Amino acid sequence: ASQRLLNAGDTLFNEGDVGHEAYLIETGAVEIYVERPEGRRVLAVLGPDDLFGELALIGDQTRTACACATASTQLSVITHDTLADQLERASPLLRHLLRVILSRCRNNLRMIGAGETFQPDQIVRAPETDGDGNLAIKRLRLEQALAEAMRKGELVLFYQPIVRLGSGHIVGFEALVRWRRSDGSLVPPGEFIGVLEDSNLIMEFGRWAIRRAATDLHLLGADYHPHRVDDEPLFCSVNLSVRQFGDPDLLPAVRSAVDDCGLQPGQLRLEITESGLLNNLQAALELIEQCHQLGCRVVVDDFGTGYSSLWYLHSLPVNGLKLDRSFLQDSTRSQRGLRIVRAVGRLAVDLDMYAVAEGIETPEQAAICHDLGLDFGQGFFFSKAVPVAEAQALLRQ
Ligand code: C2E
Ligand code: CA
Ligand code: CA
Repeated sequence: ASQRLLNAGDTLFNEGDVGHEAYLIETGAVEIYVERPEGRRVLAVLGPDDLFGELALIGDQTRTACACATASTQLSVITHDTLADQLERASPLLRHLLRVILSRCRNNLRMIGAGETFQPDQIVRAPETDGDGNLAIKRLRLEQALAEAMRKGELVLFYQPIVRLGSGHIVGFEALVRWRRSDGSLVPPGEFIGVLEDSNLIMEFGRWAIRRAATDLHLLGADYHPHRVDDEPLFCSVNLSVRQFGDPDLLPAVRSAVDDCGLQPGQLRLEITESGLLNNLQAALELIEQCHQLGCRVVVDDFGTGYSSLWYLHSLPVNGLKLDRSFLQDSTRSQRGLRIVRAVGRLAVDLDMYAVAEGIETPEQAAICHDLGLDFGQGFFFSKAVPVAEAQALLRQ
């Protein structure tokens, strides 16, 4: 923080000024006051370690009082920008709460300055409903609705086949959550996973998803017949969120799901996104190692969308990768995209990894991936994610 020096009698700001900064007193003294027709009204006399002007940090609002040094004073300046960044990253609800609290605080200060007495109906005011407020309230409701949906069993797993390119035979599935609302409509995960992640609900949901996928995999296994001698048992991939890395009950949930459903540990695979890995490297590393001890595999999801992909392939003991579908879209348009798909195919072979091309929508794309050396694929061309009964039917075809 930058410093500012004031002499006794210097004014720092006046009531009604637009403020952009708050101040911490290092040495000296500052008087906070308002000028009223009946005379100056001193609200506070502040000294070292006192903070003032802080209301200006959240939105550039006008000052509700004046500040003036009453001795030679040294201040540390805290700018609006210092905080803006952190606020931007905070949850909408936190931002909203802060704004509501601040607006009440400012109102109280205004009333003190004006010598008004509090009236209950003046203190309890409706929250501001600016964009942030609406968003925060919407999210809060969504979070409550999701907790309710989990209790009522409205969250269900759909399964999208992962196939061997070339033959098109199903070798596994990816479990993808859907919210089946009471009116029968299906809400895609993009609309609610983020809210689950921001609340602790993701922990419980994640353990539930593992148990559900393991149970369904046991069922699906009955209709699976290997086509090649080197085919492994049918597997199911479950998506993990970064927040779950810190869940001490996650691994025990994986272990008991595998045991209770009579699976081989290798049949359950965990997908971790690239960004998730990089955001929480230490926790990810521990989780991957624990998974290996259990015999479960870990694959990198959305491979290529982060920026240190090669570095972590080298450093983290992951078993496979899923090439993000953006490359495939590029590959049908450009030589560059094609070369990347090919390079990833080679990389996977060289590192003895399992590699899946995501988002295959056309027979041409399937052929390209196969020609470039990728063994497995997933996408609408083969099938979208379907309920478990339909997944069973796909295996029987
Ligand atoms: P993801 O893990 O990358 O999953 C693949 C997404 O691509 C799925 O969307 C799938 O329906 C979609 N997709 C599959 N094939 C194609 C294709 O050929 N073309 C196109 N355009 N899209 C295709 P979905 O089911 O909406 O899931 C979105 C994301 O939500 C997932 O992305 C994953 O990050 C997250 N998600 C889904 N289920 C779970 C879950 O159980 N737990 C967690 N933590 N995240 C989940
Ligand atoms: Ca995935
Ligand atoms: Ca993906």
